[in-house]
Amino acid sequence: MKRARNVKIVATLGPASEGYDMIRQLFEAGADVFRLNMSHGGHDEIRARHAAIRQVEKDTGRPIAILADLQGPKLRCGSFANGEGYDLEDGATFRFDLDPTPGDAMRVQLPHKEIFEALEPGSRLLVNDGKVRLRVDACGPDFADCTVVAGGPISNRKGVNVPDVVLPLAALSEKDRNDLEFVCQLGVDWLALSFVQRAADVQEARALARGRAAILSKIEKPAAVQAFDEILAASDGIMVARGDLGVELPVHAVPPIQKRLVRKCRAAAKPVIVATQMLESMIESPMPTRAEVSDVATALYEGADAVMLSAESAAGSYPIEAVTTMHNVAVEVESDTNFPDIMQASRVVQRNSTADAIVAAAREIAETVDIKAICCFTQSGKTAALVARERPRVPILALTPLIDVARRMCLTWGIVNYVTEEQHRFKGAVVNAARAARSGGYATEEDQIIVVAGVPFNVQGSTNILRVAPCAERLIYATDPE
Ligand code: PGA
Ligand code: MN
Repeated sequence: MKRARNVKIVATLGPASEGYDMIRQLFEAGADVFRLNMSHGGHDEIRARHAAIRQVEKDTGRPIAILADLQGPKLRCGSFANGEGYDLEDGATFRFDLDPTPGDAMRVQLPHKEIFEALEPGSRLLVNDGKVRLRVDACGPDFADCTVVAGGPISNRKGVNVPDVVLPLAALSEKDRNDLEFVCQLGVDWLALSFVQRAADVQEARALARGRAAILSKIEKPAAVQAFDEILAASDGIMVARGDLGVELPVHAVPPIQKRLVRKCRAAAKPVIVATQMLESMIESPMPTRAEVSDVATALYEGADAVMLSAESAAGSYPIEAVTTMHNVAVEVESDTNFPDIMQASRVVQRNSTADAIVAAAREIAETVDIKAICCFTQSGKTAALVARERPRVPILALTPLIDVARRMCLTWGIVNYVTEEQHRFKGAVVNAARAARSGGYATEEDQIIVVAGVPFNVQGSTNILRVAPCAERLIYATDPE
C-alpha cells in the first residue's frame, strides 16, 4: 500500500479501537504504528490487540510497528473516605502523608515515601493534570503540609506531579518490569519509557529488553529536558510527551522545547514522535478545531518523524476520522511548495562518516536529475535513518532481510519498508531494489533509481556504495558491475 505522505502516524489502541476490523481500518486510514498503553488494559487485552495487529500485518503484507508504552513511575494519591474526593479551595491547607487511612478535606495518603525524602519547603505538588496546585510549607520523612495555590477537585488515585525535584525513584516500577517482560515475550518493536529522568534510566530498560525492542524515551519531566543530550544518546527514539510536560512546566514552555527536541533528534537520525492533544476535540467531534490542524501541521514543518493520537483513537468516538484528519493534513503540508525548502533549511550537515557523505550525495542527485526513489539496503536500520535525515524529495525504500528492523523503521519519516532475502552480490541487490520500486508503484521500467548499500552485505555500518541504476532488468544486467 502506497501512502501519499512521509510523516508517520502513531495510533493508540483502546476500548474505542478494539478488534481486527477496527485495527485494519485504522491501518488503511493511515496508522503506521500502533501504541499499546500499559497504563490501561490488562495483559489479556494487550495480547489480543497484539495478535490483531500482527494479523493485519500478515494480511496486508506490510510491516507494522508495535510500540508498548510502559507506565513508569507515575505518582498517584490514595483514596477518599467519602468515595468522591473534595474541592480544595485557594489558600486552604492540605496534608499529604503515608497513612493509608482514606483521606478527607484536610489530608490524603501519597503512597510514595521517596517523594517525602526529596521534597523541600517551596516545592510544588500538582494534582489532577496540574489543575490543582499546592506549595509545600513544611515537610518530614512521612508528611508534607501544603498551601493550596490553585484550588480544584482532588479525588481517588489522581495523578500527582512533582516538577521541581529529581525524584530518587527507580525508572521502572515492579509493574513496569513485569509489563516489559510480558511485551518483549509477545514481541513488540518499540518500548516507550515514561517519566525518564536521566540516561541511566534508559540504560536500565535496555539491559532488561536485551535487544528484543528498541527504546524510546518519553520526555515529560523538566529533568529530562535538562539531560536531553545524554538521554538522546542513550535512546533509539524520542517522544515529546506534551501532556505531562505541560503539567510539569508552564504550558507556554512546551512549544520551544518541542522545536528544539525535534531538531536534535533529526540531527542524530533518531525518530521523534510529537504526542498528546494533537486532535483532542476529535474525542467527541468528527471535526478538529483549526488550532489542532495547525498544531499537527506545525509538527510536520518542524521535521517530526511521527505524530500521535492518544485518547482520540483509544477512547474517542471518531478514531478513523482522527487518523484520516492527520493523514490529510500531512498530504497537504508535504505538498506545500515551501515544504522541501523548509526541510532543507533545517538540515544539520553531518560529516562524520562515509555514510553521511553517501546519503547527502543521494539527496543531491535526486534533486539534480530525474530519480524516482532512493533504495537502501540496511542491516540495522541506521543507513535508512541517515537517508531519512536528509529529507530527500523522492521516496525512500528500505530493504532489509530482518522483519524486526523493518518494523522498527515504520516510525521513521518517509521510510517504506521491504523485507527481502539476504543479498550477496551487488547486482542482485540492484535487481531487487528495482523490483521493489516497480512493484510498489514508485518507478517503471523507463525510470532510474538510486541504490545505496554496503558491501560486503549483511555487515552493519559498512555503507560504501551509491549507484544510479536503471529500473529495467535487462539494462541492469547489461550495465551493472558485479
Ligand atoms: P501519556 O504520555 O499519554 O502516557 O501520559 C504522553 C504525555 O504525557 O504527553
Ligand atoms: Mn505522560
